Amino acid sequence: MLSYRHAFHAGNHADALKHLTLGLLLQRLNAKDKPYFYLDTHAGAGRYALKQRYAALHQEYAAGVLPLLDCDKLQDLVPEYFAALKAVNSLKPEQSLTADQLNFYPGSPLIAAQTMRRQDRLTLIELHSRDFELLNTLFRSDRRVHCECRDGFAALSALLPPPLKRGLVLMDPSYELKSDYQAAVKAIKQGLSRFNTGIFALWYPVLGRMQDYSRNLTQELSRLRCPLLQVELRVRAQTDVRGMCGSGLLILNYPYTLDQSLEQVMNLIYPRLAGPDGSAKLKVINPQA
Ligand code: SAM
Repeated sequence: MLSYRHAFHAGNHADALKHLTLGLLLQRLNAKDKPYFYLDTHAGAGRYALKQRYAALHQEYAAGVLPLLDCDKLQDLVPEYFAALKAVNSLKPEQSLTADQLNFYPGSPLIAAQTMRRQDRLTLIELHSRDFELLNTLFRSDRRVHCECRDGFAALSALLPPPLKRGLVLMDPSYELKSDYQAAVKAIKQGLSRFNTGIFALWYPVLGRMQDYSRNLTQELSRLRCPLLQVELRVRAQTDVRGMCGSGLLILNYPYTLDQSLEQVMNLIYPRLAGPDGSAKLKVINPQA
C-alpha cells in the first residue's frame, strides 16, 4: 500500500526545480503549432492547499517556491510556471503574487494543463486511490485530459507511441519502493523503443550517501545512447545519513538550447534556495547528434 502523499512536500525546493524545468520544456513544445502529447506517469493530486493540513505541517514551500515569488527575471524566463501559480491562486496574469496570496500550489498536471493549448492532449496517471480521486475531479471538465488510476511505469509501454507525434513524458516517482529506480530505467528504455523522438524527463532525489542512488541512475540512463541533460540542485551538503539534500532531473532527447535556459534559471534560483554548503550541477551527459 502506498503511504507517500505529495501534499506534505508541495512547493518545496525539489518541486520548484522540477516545475521550472517542466515550464521550460512545455515552452519549447509550444513554439511549434503542431499538437503534442504530455504523459505524467506519477501525477499526484494536481493541486495542493499550502496553508491547510499536510503542506502546513512542515511548510516546505517556505524554502521552495516562496523565495522565488519576487524574482522578476525568473518570471521572464519561465512565465509558464508563474502563470500556473497565479491561476491556481485565482489571480489575473497581470497581478503580482505575494506570499500572503500563495494559498495553493499547482502540481505538474496543473502546470501542464495551464500551459498546453487546445490542440494538445494530456494523460495523467496516479496509483494512490485518494490522490487519483482528487486529480480526476480537478480535470473532470477538461476535455484534453484523460486520467487513469494504474501503475505509471507500466503505462509507458501501454500508452506509447502516442497518436500525436510530438510529446513529453514526465516521470516523477516517489521512490517509496527501492525498486522504483530499476522500474524507472526499464520503463524509459521501453518508452524510448516505442517513441524514440519523445522527450523523457525523470526526476530523482539526492539522498544521504548510504541510501543515495542518483549516480547509478545517471550512469544507467547515460548508457542508453540518447541525448541526455542533467540538472541538479543540492540545497545542503550530502551527509552519510538519511534525508534528501537535493534533487535533479535527467532529460532524454532534451530540446535544443534547454541547457542554456536552465543555466540562467539555476543562476537565479541557486542563491535563493541553497545554503552555504549547497551545490548545483548542469551537465550535458550525451550531446545532441
Ligand atoms: N508529479 C507530481 C507533481 O510534480 O506535482 C508529484 C508526484 S509525487 C512525487 C509521486 C506520486 O506518484 C504520488 O502521488 C504517488 O502516490 C504516486 N505513485 C507512487 N507509485 C506509483 C506508481 N507505481 N504508479 C503511479 N503513481 C505512483
